[in-house]
Amino acid sequence: MLEVEGLTVQYGEAVKACVDVSFTLAKGEILGVVGESGSGKSTLITALTRLQRPPARTTAGRIIHHPRDGEPVDLVALSERELRRYRWTSLSIVLQSAMDALNPLMRLGDQFADVLKAHGRSVERIPELLSMVGIAPERARAYPHELSGGTRQRAAIALALACEPDLIVMDEPTTAVDVVMQRLIIQQIVKLRRELGFALVFVTHDLPLLLEVADRIAVMYAGRIVEIGDAAVMGHSPQHPYTKGLRDAFPPLRAARERLLGIPGSPPDLRDPPKGCAFHPRCAVRLAVCDEVEPVLKDRDGRLTACHLNGADL
Ligand code: SF4
Ligand code: MG
Repeated sequence: MLEVEGLTVQYGEAVKACVDVSFTLAKGEILGVVGESGSGKSTLITALTRLQRPPARTTAGRIIHHPRDGEPVDLVALSERELRRYRWTSLSIVLQSAMDALNPLMRLGDQFADVLKAHGRSVERIPELLSMVGIAPERARAYPHELSGGTRQRAAIALALACEPDLIVMDEPTTAVDVVMQRLIIQQIVKLRRELGFALVFVTHDLPLLLEVADRIAVMYAGRIVEIGDAAVMGHSPQHPYTKGLRDAFPPLRAARERLLGIPGSPPDLRDPPKGCAFHPRCAVRLAVCDEVEPVLKDRDGRLTACHLNGADL
């Protein structure tokens, strides 16, 4: 239902934050996108949802969406006007902080009513939408500041679902809430996906979390996808050293944290990325070729990996 082909996003002339990114998404599928801060995952999301602002701009690539009904659409080519019709009904976004989505001056119910009415839907669904994410319908009268962080985040998810889009993009939707609420929200998202059948692109720095929810996972480093494939397979046998580092980076009782324990060093400066494999300065198993030749994505058992080790056991 979504085909991303060769997507490249630049900041100004020199800085490429997203380079030649390609993937597909099937109807009802959850694709997890994982990487540290600065890996390009948020840049990818803002390009996908057309929320990017200058100096960021998409300089190459296509994002073809095949909606449930109607002709395929290239999101890169949509005008602002077409985009407004598209948002909420075909593609919804849930950001890290619900405060970005909710108007602090409006009661929750009024915000739902605004979105529903703007797209010709009945406001009678509001209680049902709130119940769907475990919010008591009476809370429609509350202002966002009267709700807990977790409730606000669930409200943002219900709002994203209000006009039944077939594609939802979530950027770190649970980082601002505690671990217990995080579990609850993730379980709700998985259940709703099963019931409603939307496809989901779920972005986070937390690979173990994705291993629980995603069907497939794309690992990003220095603006590129370095490994993409089936989540279950990737969990027990990562092929890229960075994927393995991300998997092992979190303590067993995991808490949300940006600093990774398993990978020394920090992501490269995209203004001046390392030659060869961008990961080579941090890679414990690098080869002589790695600081000279950039590895390209190669298919191995249905999984694409960009590494000169070519999937040798890590
Ligand atoms: Fe490590 Fe080389 Fe693979 Fe890069 S290409 S991840 S440096 S082994
Ligand atoms: Mg980010």
